[in-house]
Amino acid sequence: QSEGLLGPTAIRGLAQQLDLRPTKSLGQNFLHDANTIRRIVRTADLLADDVVCEVGPGLGSLTLGLLPACAAVVAVEIDPRLADQLPRTVAERAPALADRLTVVTADALRVTELPGPPPTALVANLPYNVAVPVLLHLLELLPSIRTALVLVQAEVAERLAAAPGSPAYGIPSVKAAWYADVRRAGAVGRPVFWPAPNVDSGLVSLRRRPAPPGDRAATFAVVDAAFATRRKGLRAALARWAGSPAAADQRLRAAGIDPTTRGEQLSVTDFARLAATPAVLPD
Ligand code: SAM
Repeated sequence: QSEGLLGPTAIRGLAQQLDLRPTKSLGQNFLHDANTIRRIVRTADLLADDVVCEVGPGLGSLTLGLLPACAAVVAVEIDPRLADQLPRTVAERAPALADRLTVVTADALRVTELPGPPPTALVANLPYNVAVPVLLHLLELLPSIRTALVLVQAEVAERLAAAPGSPAYGIPSVKAAWYADVRRAGAVGRPVFWPAPNVDSGLVSLRRRPAPPGDRAATFAVVDAAFATRRKGLRAALARWAGSPAAADQRLRAAGIDPTTRGEQLSVTDFARLAATPAVLPD
């Protein structure tokens, strides 16, 4: 492989050297296809001075593709075997770029700060079982992140990028839209991973935009309530959130929303407006 990228032989060799059997619960499916790695880096559209946060660098497949394309990579890896090996792999394969890399051994869901300059981009082949919470956590924690490109399960890609009114629209769609304009950026097949996952994958591209006016936690609370009982109209779905069906009715009407519509119809701005609409207390 050119540019020091990891191909199938190198990936298996590294895994053998570390005596690593990929852990399913940690979503350890490693990229071993240089074309896919180049495609991800190209689609990420990085600037030379970008500081990239990468979650789950694994054996370093994507990290080695990212390092030449940006100023620095801060990689957060939960598995200490992989985190310890990564600087060695980069020193061997891309010695001139090794000082661009910082590795943090941590659960990306629990990080509260990262070392070094604030990341301006997020690029990751995310562990599938925690992809959405990790993405939302980092968008919230790191407002410096301007763009993100993540590889996730195809179905999750569809949900993240879904527009109001479409069948895939749900909690991940609304919450991601709080932070960014979200679009799908292409499908990725199974054979480019080792081991091959039993689901298809997809790229999702996010571009940060100003959050809607309103309070994030209050908006997310009403979103969770609205989608908890998908088949109900909003008046019924939000009864507990508002205190009673009548109170839900009143708040929906005050926010200019028809109480018989379903959560699937509302945009993130609608939810933010609803969350900000005060309850009218009885006389
Ligand atoms: N980036 C590598 C690649 O493309 O080959 C590996 C991607 S693999 C799908 C996901 C990686 O995330 C694994 O290395 C796994 O150990 C790591 N991981 C899983 N859960 C994590 C978490 N909560 N925080 C940080 N890393 C995690």
